[in-house]
Amino acid sequence: MNIQEIIKKSIKRLELEGKLLTPDFYAEAFCKEASKAGFNVEDCSKLEKFKSMLNKEFQEELKKYHIKTISEFAHFLISRLNRTNPSHCSNLLEAQSVFTKRVLQVVEVLHNKEAAELARKSLDLLNREALPFEIDQYRQLWVNFITIYDDTFLQKLKLLGDVDTTNLRKTVENLNLENGSFASTHSFELSKIASLLVASFVPSIASDVNDKIAAISQKIKKEPSLLESSTIEAEIKSAISLRIALDKQSVKEMIESIDGVLDKLSIRLIEMIESSDSSTVEIQKIKKELESYNERDYTSFSLAHKKLYTIAVALEENTQALTKDLKKHSGEVALLSKRVEQLEQELQKAKEQSKEDFLTKLFNKRALDESMNIKEAEFVRYGKNFTIVFFDLDFFKSVNDTYGHDAGDAVLFAFAKILKKEVRSVDVVGRYGGEEFIAILGETDAEGGAIFANKVRIKVENARMMYKENRIELTVSCGVSERKAHFSLQNTVKSADEALYKAKQNGRNRVETK
Ligand code: GH3
Ligand code: MG
Ligand code: MG
Repeated sequence: MNIQEIIKKSIKRLELEGKLLTPDFYAEAFCKEASKAGFNVEDCSKLEKFKSMLNKEFQEELKKYHIKTISEFAHFLISRLNRTNPSHCSNLLEAQSVFTKRVLQVVEVLHNKEAAELARKSLDLLNREALPFEIDQYRQLWVNFITIYDDTFLQKLKLLGDVDTTNLRKTVENLNLENGSFASTHSFELSKIASLLVASFVPSIASDVNDKIAAISQKIKKEPSLLESSTIEAEIKSAISLRIALDKQSVKEMIESIDGVLDKLSIRLIEMIESSDSSTVEIQKIKKELESYNERDYTSFSLAHKKLYTIAVALEENTQALTKDLKKHSGEVALLSKRVEQLEQELQKAKEQSKEDFLTKLFNKRALDESMNIKEAEFVRYGKNFTIVFFDLDFFKSVNDTYGHDAGDAVLFAFAKILKKEVRSVDVVGRYGGEEFIAILGETDAEGGAIFANKVRIKVENARMMYKENRIELTVSCGVSERKAHFSLQNTVKSADEALYKAKQNGRNRVETK
């Protein structure tokens, strides 16, 4: 195989591998085809020769890159040569660090509080070899600073002259402090002081401004530069002492007026304590007066304080006395109510023990029961007979309904009188309840009882009962029963009642016996 054929095969190979016909690819392909054909081309072993010339360390490093061509080998060498050496690196870092520190030291002394503060902290950071994240934090703080930094306030200086915000020295030198602008500031300050001074002349308590004060105030207000003249000093001094005098006078007047109020107050209080009735009205009066004086703003005065204290003490003493009084009376009241309770109980007891019917003054039911029991005992022991008569007024309800309850009472009383009149002294009569009456007739039989009852009945029928010019017609029904005819007292009572019922049934105004 000649060289021509090897060249052809090399180009074919590149075509098959899809590579461009560059000198490097071609050289690689040519060397492969030549060695396949058994040729030993010196140029092809150049790469290995060069590699073996490098020291071991580089040869190892070279293996990692799979270098196959002279061109790649050359790239490796170039990059190796271009790489800076370590000492160069640290020198560079050192220089940068020192440079940064110097810049920060400069910033620290500049006329910006925030920047100076940030610079100081950043310097601390660099001096203590901070961690990368800390440095990054400060980087961000600087970014923040410059983001919000605003020096537009410098524009205000324009009032005083030319302003070059990039050159403050020049700006300050250009400021026209000597002439117009400073003078106007000065007079502006003076007028401010003048108005303050005038305000201080106004009496703080007294309501009127004295003419003299008003005049000097006006003068200073009009021409503040007068403050620089020495003659005005005396005038100001006298204005001030006038103001003090006016205030003192006001205070004196106020104290006098408070004094007057307090005197009136204590007189009223004493009157109130002495009379001590309608006290709430008096207290309200005092309160109203106090309220009216509260509307004015007084500072505390020791005399007023003293008087108020006296009033408070008087009030306290009076209240204590009242409370004591109240306590004493409440004891008496309690005692009295206990006594009333006792009396009520006694009354109740007396009532219970009473034998008299409150309306008719005859015996009441209790006394009647007692009498019946006595009669019963006499019957049982001595066989003494007795008769019970029941009386019940007829249609008595209609008396009440027609003429009123008082009329009813009067009728009951009148009937009782008749009854009382008709009985013997040994007999017992009483009201058994409502309009029912009983007569207990000793040693009397049913017949005698009926005669007695009839007598009463006729008397009632014929009675001319008058109530407030009204004649009241009254009749009575009677039931008679003798003891002897019955088994017991109860039976006797029951049968008298039954006889009465019968009398009612049979037409009223009559006597029935059982
Ligand atoms: P009757 O002929 O059936 O007995 O008829 P009455 O209306 O008499 O009997 P009733 O029992 O219906 O009514 C009795 C009335 O007596 C009712 C009551 O108001 C009256 N009464 C009872 N006690 C008193 C009293 O003390 N004073 C007065 N004014 N009325 C009394
Ligand atoms: Mg009745
Ligand atoms: Mg009746």
